[in-house]
Amino acid sequence: MNKRIELLQGDITKLYVDAIVNAANSSLLGGGGVDGAIHRAGGKQILEECRAIIAHQGRCHTGEAVITSGGRLPAKYVIHTVGPVWNGGKKNEAELLANCYTHSLQLAVEHSVKTIAFPNISTGVYRYPKTEAAQVAVDAVNAFLQQNTFLDKVTFICFDAENLTLYEELLNKL
Ligand code: ADP
Repeated sequence: MNKRIELLQGDITKLYVDAIVNAANSSLLGGGGVDGAIHRAGGKQILEECRAIIAHQGRCHTGEAVITSGGRLPAKYVIHTVGPVWNGGKKNEAELLANCYTHSLQLAVEHSVKTIAFPNISTGVYRYPKTEAAQVAVDAVNAFLQQNTFLDKVTFICFDAENLTLYEELLNKL
């Protein structure tokens, strides 16, 4: 287990970390799942900032990440990243999912974030198989931490028990 990686089960909107990551869609206008939960808990300021980003740069492409304030959330920032929709695995899904984690971490460091929490991106409505998604997530975060000493802690927060078990197994191997 890497000491700078933490595993939790629960609701990401409750976490006291510098930044939480949102599994957004490319419109950044909110949706269901974790996206809906973050906008509900964080209030309209987050949506207003998302709208301003879209007006300025257009839609957020798959694998990319943008940052807003955390609104009323305990977290200072929300990093919105767009995961790939699972389409069988031959549409570059793994690289795009890894990009979500890496680009979110790069943006976090640029904003002096020391503690950051990720949900299990793409494993809900976007149907990415949980086993494969967990492997991509752990590999991408671990690789980033190997070459970055600024971040203090990266938390994986799983909503369901199945993901929690998968992450436990993978993190124990690190
Ligand atoms: P995607 O469209 O990227 O698949 P979803 O929001 O549908 O996004 O699901 C991504 C993951 O987030 C799923 O594993 C889902 O169980 C989880 N999730 C949903 N609500 C929350 C929450 N409040 N906190 C943490 N994780 C959540």
